Amino acid sequence: MAVALPSFLTAIMIMSRLMAFIGITRNNDMSSKLQALDIAPKLSYDPSAIESASQDFGHIVKAVPQAVLLPSSPWDIASLVNFSYSNSVPFSIAARGNSHSVNGQAMAKNGVVIDMTSMKNGNGTGIRIASDGSYADVGGQQFWIDVLNATLGLGLTPVSWTDYLYLTVGGTLSNAGISGQTFRYGPQISNVYEIDVITGTADFVTCSPNNNSDLFYAALGGLGQFGIITRARIPLEPAPKRVKWVRMLYTDFSDFTRDQELLISKNGRNDNKALNYLEGSLLLDQGSLDNWRSSFFPPQDQPKIISLITKFRIVYCLEIVKHYDGQTKTTVDKDLQQLLKGLSYLPGFMFEKDAKYEEFLNRVHSEELKLKAKGLWDVPHPWLNLFIPKSKISDFNDGVFKSIVLQRNITTGPVLVYPMNRKKWDDRMSAVIPDEEIFYTVGLLQSSGFDDWRTFEDQNKEILLFCEKAGIKVKQYLPHYTTKEGWVNHFGSKWSTFQKRKLQFDPKLLLSPGQRIFNSNQ
Ligand code: FAD
Repeated sequence: MAVALPSFLTAIMIMSRLMAFIGITRNNDMSSKLQALDIAPKLSYDPSAIESASQDFGHIVKAVPQAVLLPSSPWDIASLVNFSYSNSVPFSIAARGNSHSVNGQAMAKNGVVIDMTSMKNGNGTGIRIASDGSYADVGGQQFWIDVLNATLGLGLTPVSWTDYLYLTVGGTLSNAGISGQTFRYGPQISNVYEIDVITGTADFVTCSPNNNSDLFYAALGGLGQFGIITRARIPLEPAPKRVKWVRMLYTDFSDFTRDQELLISKNGRNDNKALNYLEGSLLLDQGSLDNWRSSFFPPQDQPKIISLITKFRIVYCLEIVKHYDGQTKTTVDKDLQQLLKGLSYLPGFMFEKDAKYEEFLNRVHSEELKLKAKGLWDVPHPWLNLFIPKSKISDFNDGVFKSIVLQRNITTGPVLVYPMNRKKWDDRMSAVIPDEEIFYTVGLLQSSGFDDWRTFEDQNKEILLFCEKAGIKVKQYLPHYTTKEGWVNHFGSKWSTFQKRKLQFDPKLLLSPGQRIFNSNQ
């Protein structure tokens, strides 16, 4: 649909004012109309359902919906969207995956939140594996851990993951889905053949690169703005049995990044000699060696690691994985040695584990259980995730890690730093990354108390301000902006396409209001 931009902007402004007005007047009106729908029995007004749909993993933002839909099939979702779309007083709708966003992205103030996970119990799409094993059709509500378990049962696996697997397929595909596999296989959005989407006009559309491609590219990395993903076709490959899992420590940042970049330069999808996974993280003076990523080091080696951190205040940890199975068991060590030859990690500071493939992929869950037992999981998470061009990563280290982070001395939780290759991303998709061929992801995955999260938010703001002043053109991952200008800058040259697609697929601005992109004035 060709749309003149000025008239589109006016339409957006009118719609977003209308939505704000509607938020005030619709409450009574909307509830009574919803009661008359076929799906009425699946709408919950239960205070505990409303309360849990008002929160997320961040525990920072709160937005109360009118109701929560517990769909048992995609048709229930289409019915709800259709009702809102056709109504003279439309209301906003947010798909809620596992609500592991940290800034209210899956909330819908005064609207309806769709609890996608309720489809796991209904006749929604579950997980179906093609008879030739080449792909799995997976419901958008499924957790990645379920995808792993179902595919491993047949000796198969997807190739691109997130660090943590209790996230939904629809939720991560709405962002990108990144982890240590991204440098070689691309993000999860680069590993999808086809998706089913219910748009903001309540159309049920199957899309792929060859079929309704505009919606396909819009929805992948689309922050839930164009439709609700109810099925994704994910390519599968034979699963390995086990992994060699190695961590190496550095005190020199340029040695650390040079080695990371060298290792990711071998990145052919079918290159059996390449690594399967590469990440990196900071070990900090004030951080515990035992946070949710790092109970890896053998107890007998922990004192020497701690004294290294005490001496240097920041130690950089490079982490890699190489898969193996019965056939490659005898060669994997040699292949690994070959890959690690000539690297500059500190002698005596290389640590190796041998683990089952699924144990490695599900590594964060065991740490989650430990933190939950200590009451340290369901706490505020003032996270900041950034993509940083390679040319500025050293400036970022000096200005952020060595200055802001060390001076403030508050950072708790993992701090991730690892590079990826731009060519593994598809620029037609909505996800936004820096312009350079190699860029780094930095994740400050902090936990705080309920009283002090603002101190962490202040640090995040200081980091962003530093980047702006230093001319470091960062892009936020899992982006969060409170102003329209912030979003326009974020999308850069993609903004006009993003807007046009919004008008095409969700002209009444119903979907994912918690991202605050088209309603940032509310
Ligand atoms: P939600 O938070 O419920 O939703 C996120 C957004 O997507 C919302 O706007 C929502 O409306 C929309 N949405 C949800 N489902 C659908 C759907 N089916 N169709 C369309 N829109 C939908 N991310 C990574 O990339 N890599 C990681 O390694 C990683 N590790 C993480 C570890 C932890 C402990 C946590 C809490 C998060 C991590 N994340 C990671 C971030 C995570 O990918 C995002 O927060 C993701 O959005 C969470 O998935 P969810 O299913 O809970 O989605």
